[in-house]
Amino acid sequence: MKELPSLRRANLRGKRVFIRVDYNVPIESGQITDDRRIRASLPTLRYLIEQGATLILASHLGRPKDGQRDPKYSLHPVQHHLSQLLQKPVELIGDPFTYKELSPSSVYLMENVRFFPGETKNAIEFARALAQWAEAYVSDAFGSVHRAHASVDALPRLMKEKYAGFLLEAEWNNAQRVLTQIEHPYLVVVGGAKVSDKLPLLQYLLPKLDRLLIGGGMSYTFLHAKGLPIGKSLLEREHVQAAQELLAQADKMGKRVLLPSDSLAAKAFQADAEAAVYAHQAGVFPEDRMGLDIGPASIAAAKGFIQGSKTIFWNGPMGVFEWERFKQGTVEVGKAIAEETARGAYSLVGGGDTAAAAEVAGVAEQVSFVSTGGGALLELLAGQTLPGIAALMS
Ligand code: AMP
Repeated sequence: MKELPSLRRANLRGKRVFIRVDYNVPIESGQITDDRRIRASLPTLRYLIEQGATLILASHLGRPKDGQRDPKYSLHPVQHHLSQLLQKPVELIGDPFTYKELSPSSVYLMENVRFFPGETKNAIEFARALAQWAEAYVSDAFGSVHRAHASVDALPRLMKEKYAGFLLEAEWNNAQRVLTQIEHPYLVVVGGAKVSDKLPLLQYLLPKLDRLLIGGGMSYTFLHAKGLPIGKSLLEREHVQAAQELLAQADKMGKRVLLPSDSLAAKAFQADAEAAVYAHQAGVFPEDRMGLDIGPASIAAAKGFIQGSKTIFWNGPMGVFEWERFKQGTVEVGKAIAEETARGAYSLVGGGDTAAAAEVAGVAEQVSFVSTGGGALLELLAGQTLPGIAALMS
């Protein structure tokens, strides 16, 4: 396993340090509604503050159009919130192109890097403008390392001194637990809406895993691939063949695969839709219904399947967990994973919406690690090289 350059080995006393963080947080009417990503960066920031470094933080927020300044995506609310969390003034730098003297041991936050067209173009000129502010670079933006953008890729390639912050290091080390340091039996649980998002990951993890539990919206493409009825449930026709091939491969490799045998199904995609349980059997599952959660037989089977696993990776909910009526499958699977963790299994939860699903299941504190990465985690676990990690090691 490759090791990331650790911040612990750096001597950054008195230096100006550029820290790429991921503060792409939800903001409603100027209020941050979920500050987990900001809090997750605090250990790195506090460590550097204690070292007497001058901090220049940078992040993107949302997708401002064409690299334009749009007040809706200003980091102002983050500046205010971070200042409260650190109990220290945080000054906003509006224009990264115009360098000014920084006060030693202070904390600065650059305005949204996506206000500048060079960021998403990975432009070297923009990276140079950012580089003039600092003597060292720290990456703690796990949620962004899969993007070849200037503050993630071109900038660290320009910097001589570069390190992984504590959050990035923790994310990397935890990912290794399900990639290279696996204790068997290894269970992968996938769910969520889209097969297409998860296929590369499934293909990469298939040889490593022992058990594969598929639930949620994506499971219906697999059930359809097996010739089972799914009514109006989610179906990605263009991926039926890939699903078929994956199941055949799993079979050949002797992997155990569990698909839902029944679903809680409704006639409409609505929170309060009337719902009933149907088995995915010919002549049983109605044509006019869609599965919005796994059913009770599937939940019972999933619990047995999870038991005894020593390594667990969970990505994607078992149903529309945002709606009270359809959250039970996700809650029960989350609880079963938490129980195995209490018995000594290692469990990693993350990618897409799974962190939110773990919160709904009430198990976010009971699993081994909840990743802050969405797409970045999925790409890392699909065996891809992440530009922001490659640049740190360059
Ligand atoms: P993903 O980002 O692919 O992990 O998908 C997460 C989303 O999948 C959540 O918003 C769920 O509401 C949705 N989802 C899960 N199961 C189903 C289902 N059976 N039908 C429709 N959407 C689903």
